[in-house]
Amino acid sequence: MAIHLKKNEQVEKMYRAGQIVREVLDRLGEMVAVGVTTEELDVEAERICTARGADCLFKGVPGRGKADPFPGNICASINEEVVHGIPSPRRVLEDGDIVSVDFGVQLNGWCADAARTYCVGTVPRDARNLVEATKHCLDLAVERMRPGEKWSSIARSMQDYARSRGFSVVEEFVGHGIGREMHEDPKVPNFVSAELRRRDIVLKPGLVIAVEPMVNLGAKGVRVLGDGWTIVTADGKCSAHWEHTLAVIDNGVRVLTG
Ligand code: MG
Repeated sequence: MAIHLKKNEQVEKMYRAGQIVREVLDRLGEMVAVGVTTEELDVEAERICTARGADCLFKGVPGRGKADPFPGNICASINEEVVHGIPSPRRVLEDGDIVSVDFGVQLNGWCADAARTYCVGTVPRDARNLVEATKHCLDLAVERMRPGEKWSSIARSMQDYARSRGFSVVEEFVGHGIGREMHEDPKVPNFVSAELRRRDIVLKPGLVIAVEPMVNLGAKGVRVLGDGWTIVTADGKCSAHWEHTLAVIDNGVRVLTG
């Protein structure tokens, strides 16, 4: 495992990238409404990204096995879709949906990555609670990150909180280091993994990670659809996803995508 700690001026560059991601997710939040397609969200994300001189990170990411490269600029995952949903003119947002949008950019060689789950119209209480609880898991990480803290301790508090609300944390997908590459070491699970028990991550100034809790209304299990990309819950119940790119700094944490 090779963790590249970032210098202050590099974190500053990542913040610039992160502010484009924040702007896009703010704008998409304004657009989300009944009747809007996930393709419309995708087009707007690309428009803003290009206008700011940045590159969208997700389009063209190679697929696993026989899957095509990812065709979208955003991932848009509705209801039981957990992550990696493909934006489409056929996916129309309906009243009561929740839609998770994940978006990343590269600006002047530095990356940033974030996700939010939006509510469409009047969302049933259990799904609304799920969205709010998943955001709270991310907020817990932001509150607790500082130099010297062990990641396992933060991961445990996220996992415990999700469980206390009656939800389950997805284990097949995890957060990640980020920098010049979208995915760098270390892996950053939102639960206490066997790997963390063997070798914990002790936070240090200059560590920049994308923390991205994925929380399910029902059981934690997921599966991939035939498109090779879209991850759905095995039980068909809703899932939510929130993510920030976070830099550990001397006195705590800096939210680069907030
Ligand atoms: Mg990510």
